[in-house]
Order: sequence, then structure tokens, then C-alpha cells
Amino acid sequence: MARIFCIANQKGGVGKTTTSVNLAAGLAAAGQRVLLIDLDPQGNATMGSGIDKRSLGRSVYHVLVGLATLAEARVASAAGKYDVLPANRDLAGAEVELVALPRRENRLRDALGSHGDTYDFILIDCPPSLSLLTLNGLCCAHGVIIPMQCEYYALEGLSDLVNSIKKVHANLNRDLKIIGLLRVMFDPRVTLQQQVSAQLEQHFGDKVFRTLVPRNVRLAEAPSHGLPGVVFDRGSKGAQAYLAFAEEMIERIKTL
Ligand code: ADP
Ligand code: MG
Repeated sequence: MARIFCIANQKGGVGKTTTSVNLAAGLAAAGQRVLLIDLDPQGNATMGSGIDKRSLGRSVYHVLVGLATLAEARVASAAGKYDVLPANRDLAGAEVELVALPRRENRLRDALGSHGDTYDFILIDCPPSLSLLTLNGLCCAHGVIIPMQCEYYALEGLSDLVNSIKKVHANLNRDLKIIGLLRVMFDPRVTLQQQVSAQLEQHFGDKVFRTLVPRNVRLAEAPSHGLPGVVFDRGSKGAQAYLAFAEEMIERIKTL
């Protein structure tokens, strides 16, 4: 059965999409069968997987509102060797439509149905909010991966996110847990980053992933080539970190 993970943080620009795309490609490179679900109307995970969001016939929007099945809407990422349930601006309107539909928090869960057997990992790139879209992700996931920068304000936002995850766990999805915090865009030369990183380890223990993803421009350049960073420049420090993170996740799921 597939293990389903949300990559979530209600802040924007913290590395959710970069983590989703590169973890998907890293897992695929390690021989895992992966589906990446883009739940953000910006469609960055779609584009970063080499799929043009402007020319989609069907997308995750159609799946959520019941106009298409997962099998009809998913596309293969040749660049990343994984499947994508893509997104574009259509998804921005879904929020309003979902409110009126039955099982509104469970639309994605219901759509995944029996597809759990087709994949080893299903990764969900969440939008930067604790919206009904994110809730749909959290309701079908086994766990949450939280990418974060080691900055002072990162810790502040973290408690909101942790509280939301606790509420979903209590009321909607007993399977849900926080798998771990992933330190991204890390620059060891910045003292504050080292301090925050050490605080995270103290406070959250083994909920902090071993892998540290450095700030690396090759990861930022890759999407403009329609490629995951781990494919664009496999030897770069950023790519190597995400390949290590994929291995860490493969290890981690054995203990869940
Ligand atoms: P989010 O999905 O949380 O909004 P993104 O993954 O889109 O965040 O990242 C925000 C910006 O930071 C993007 O321009 C991305 O290319 C860049 N970025 C993300 N991770 C790194 C990194 N490790 N090194 C350098 N740039 C990064
Ligand atoms: Mg994003």
C-alpha cells in the first residue's frame, strides 16, 4: 500500500514545492513508484515536473469536484519518472465549490480509492494556507513533512501548523502524524540558522530529519528547465541532499 505524505507549511516560499518535486524524483530514482499531487493553484509542482499547466485537459480540480477520475487526470512526468496529478488556476475556484459538496474534506481521499496499490509513495504539495484544499491533503495522508527555514519566525508559525495537524488527527484522520521537520535553504555560515537548527533538534528530537538541505542555486534554476533539481544537476549539493532525503524517507517508513 502506498504511503501518503503531505508536504505542508502554511507559509509561502519555504520550500514545499522544491521538496515535493525533488523528493518525488529522488524516490523514483531509487526505484519507488511515485504519484505527486499538486494541490496548489499556482501549479509550480506541475511546471517543475516538466508539465505545462496551461495545456491540461483535466487536473486535480476536476478530480476534487467529481468531473474526472484520478486515472483520467494524471499525467506521467518524463523528466522525473513519476506520475503527476497536475494543477493550475482552475483549482483556485475549487475552494468555493467544495464547501457545498458532500464529504468536502474527504474528496481527495475518496478519489485515491484503490490507487494505493499502484504506488509506493503518494506525495501531496500543499498550498500556503490551512484551507479546505490543505485539509483534503491532511485527511488522506499518513503523515506530514514540514519543510522550514531555520529563522526566528519559522518557529512562531510552526505552532499554528502543529495545532492544526493535532485537530485533524483528533477529528478527521486518526492516521495522521508529523513525520518530520526538514531544514531547507540552510546556510551554516549564518549563526542564527545554526542556533535555530540546534533548538529544533533539542525541542523535536528525532522528528527532525537528519538530512539538511543547503541553499543551492541549482535547485532554484531547475524549474525553469522543467526539470527536478535532482535530474537537472544530480551532482550539485542541493540535489545530493534531496537524494539523501529520499533514502532517509525510505528508511523512515519502515519504522512507521
Ligand atoms: P513554497 O512551495 O513553500 O512556496 P518553493 O519550493 O517554491 O516554496 O521555494 C521558494 C523559492 O525558493 C523558489 O524560488 C525556490 O526555487 C527557492 N528554493 C527552494 N529551496 C531552495 C534551496 N534549497 N536553495 C535555493 N533556493 C531554493
Ligand atoms: Mg509551492
